[in-house]
Amino acid sequence: MAGQDTLDDYHEKRDFARTPEPPGEQGTETARPVFVIQKHDATTLHYDFRLEADGVLKSWAVPKGPSVDPKEKRLALPTEDHPLDYAGFEGVIPAGSYGAGAVLVWDRGTYRNLTEKEGREVGVAEAARRGHVSVWLEGEKVRGGYALTRFRTGKGEAWLLVKMNDAGADPGRNPVETEPRSVVSGRTIEEILAGREG
Ligand code: MN
Repeated sequence: MAGQDTLDDYHEKRDFARTPEPPGEQGTETARPVFVIQKHDATTLHYDFRLEADGVLKSWAVPKGPSVDPKEKRLALPTEDHPLDYAGFEGVIPAGSYGAGAVLVWDRGTYRNLTEKEGREVGVAEAARRGHVSVWLEGEKVRGGYALTRFRTGKGEAWLLVKMNDAGADPGRNPVETEPRSVVSGRTIEEILAGREG
């Protein structure tokens, strides 16, 4: 939303003199929005699922990573908006910093928003506020429709990330296990942590 800086949390959590993560600023809407899924070996290994919307990356942490099996529901916990240039970030966040650990670009590409209400498109930022987002991903490892849906828990809010049943669905694939390397550098998370080139 124009004029509304949703990156305050992102900036407040980080010391950019210490972390190699991009400081970044809110951008403007683009014609072909991007998505990225980053494998993040922090205190607990998880996959950060991010969708460009309103000049930032709307973000969820998915502990088990995305599935390509429509029968698998994956927990997704909302996290702070990230700047658009975070979609290209891969590296090591130093010990003592927020999110310390290695980050790998596990998949990325463009996406189309499929979210509708009563036959009209709902923008992704608004859809995220309302608690339901549907997108069509054009990635290298994950493709096709995904639905993100919020539900209430005793402790607050959580979401589920579920593959839609379409040509990109394949219960026989488990890319989180079988395709661990970065789509940008070809490195594994261990190689990134060791500072090796791709
Ligand atoms: Mn993370």
